[in-house]
Amino acid sequence: RPAHVMKPDWLKIDLRAKGSTGETAGIIERHRLNTICTSGLCPNRHECWAARTATIMIGGDVCTRNCRFCNTLSGRPKPLDPMEPGHVAATVKALGLRYAVITSVDRDDLPDYGAAHWVETIKAIGRLNPETRIEVLLPDFMGRADLLGMVLDTRPYVAGHNLETVRRLTPSVRSVASYDRSLDVLRAIAARGISAKTGFMVGLGETDEEVEQTMDDILSTGCRRLTIGQYLQPTARHLPVAAYIHPDKFADYRKTALAKGFEHVESGPLVRSSYHAERAATD
Ligand code: SF4
Ligand code: SF4
Repeated sequence: RPAHVMKPDWLKIDLRAKGSTGETAGIIERHRLNTICTSGLCPNRHECWAARTATIMIGGDVCTRNCRFCNTLSGRPKPLDPMEPGHVAATVKALGLRYAVITSVDRDDLPDYGAAHWVETIKAIGRLNPETRIEVLLPDFMGRADLLGMVLDTRPYVAGHNLETVRRLTPSVRSVASYDRSLDVLRAIAARGISAKTGFMVGLGETDEEVEQTMDDILSTGCRRLTIGQYLQPTARHLPVAAYIHPDKFADYRKTALAKGFEHVESGPLVRSSYHAERAATD
């Protein structure tokens, strides 16, 4: 790796961070759930788990897609676990979450791309945790508006779908997904009056102009919540980091996004789509 992409100081995190994550980890393990915190090697795990926040991943731990930035296993998934919605609901209760973030692997192997399982899970959480606000980070359901609509009919508090990168880099960064189809997902969420949220990574080789264009494209869908974070290469088999973006530049991106019309923007090297989700949605 050339010197200019050596990991800078602001990304050297103390993984022995303060606070105990043991209780959260124990509860998640007992219910045999997958979290994006673990599978995504998220750098905020200590902070979030100590604060009893986790992003629970449903639909199993194997994704049918194979994005070049993502550390989730890819391949042929096992059949859906019909007990999973109940386990997720029980975990949300055991963790005492007032704000739960749920996401899933992509299940392109299923006729409904996992939509009914999503509905079951959201309903199960709501039954057991009537006070909990639910944020969902959804797949694109291969562009099937009826399936997306079915999930959105459960009326989550926030519904997100990540754009991940700028238009030009989408084919080399994401698998199967398309930039325009993802914009359509955001448009469908906003059109239903549900708070729409998206995120993209920087440090993949995008230009400032492309970042600004992406912001404009997102705004045109009605989406007003945005997260911007640094891409970190999970293993040597994944896309290399093109650049480590300076924290000042993240601050500039935030300023630009707010000036353009976004209402909530989290922008920083360690920001992930679920980072400070509760604070961003309820402040
Ligand atoms: Fe988990 Fe999201 Fe926190 Fe990362 S930012 S640890 S994925 S809840
Ligand atoms: Fe990872 Fe891509 Fe699958 Fe999402 S769709 S879990 S980013 S491989």
